[in-house]
Parts: sequence; structure tokens; C-alpha cells
Amino acid sequence: MLCHRCYADPALMPDCAACRGSGRATRIPLCDEPWNEVVPGLFQGGHDVLSQARTCVVGDEFDLVISMVTRAGYGPADGVEHHVLRMADAAVDQGIARRVAELAGVAAAAVRDGRSVLVRCSGGLNRSGLMVASTLVELGHDVPSAIDLVRRARGPWALTNPMFVRHLHTL
Ligand SMILES: [Zn+2]
Repeated sequence: MLCHRCYADPALMPDCAACRGSGRATRIPLCDEPWNEVVPGLFQGGHDVLSQARTCVVGDEFDLVISMVTRAGYGPADGVEHHVLRMADAAVDQGIARRVAELAGVAAAAVRDGRSVLVRCSGGLNRSGLMVASTLVELGHDVPSAIDLVRRARGPWALTNPMFVRHLHTL
């Protein structure tokens, strides 16, 4: 995973104190919140949070849920539109890229229609970040600002999978 401070940017990496110039992360902490709003109507989250007091179980808070990971008992409630795309936190092959693009289109259309959308994975950092950033690009954001919005909402450890970042830059 990429360093959360310099993101292995060649201009910043040599002097980066967080990774001591390696560009790589040594630990990735969980987020405090089950989900955060990235732009109005578009939320990113996960199944695991830092605080035991918060539940990540989804009821009917959202009109549409996209899950990159599913776990029994975590919702969403019956009747909520639910799309599932299971994928590894690894490389993006052509098949995955096509499914991500498809669902990003579904999510973007829902946000444009004023519906609330949650995209979730395990920690709510990388797989959900890939989907949310792709949705933001679909909504008209450029790639750097899409990545930045995701990290502002979920913290600096979001989108630290270098293969996901590389894929986003091809959009
Ligand atoms: Zn660094």
C-alpha cells in the first residue's frame, strides 16, 4: 500500500518522514465512522470500524447500496436496491474494470436523481474508494479531485492501493 503522506510522489517521497522515503505504508488503521458522505448523496463506508460503539449494519438509511464485500447480518434492509461486486483488494483486470464502470454509472445516475447511495467494502478505504472515485469521475470530477474527495471523506489511508490509483488515472 502507498504511504498516506506522500503517496509515493517522486517529488515528496525522498523527504517523507511518514515512510522514511520508501513510499509504502507500514500500517493502515480503521476509520472511526461506518460511513462518510463524500459529496451530497454519495457515501463511502465499510463493515469494520475502529470504535466498537458504532455499528456498520445498514438498514434503510440509503436508497441504493453497492457492496464490494458482503457479510451475513449487515443489511441492507429488504427492499433497498442492492448491487454486489465482490473483488479482491488487488489488481484491476478487464472484467473487474468493466463491472466497476457499469456500477459507477448506476451510482452516478442515482446521485443525479437525488437518491442516496452507499458504497461499502471491508475497511471502507480501497475497494469502496475505487468505486466512489469512479462514480465521481462519472459525475464530472477530474481524477485527482475524485481521489482527493475520497481521502478527505475517509482519511488519508483511503485509496492507498497503488493499482487502484493507477486504474483511476486511466479513466
Ligand atoms: Zn511517505
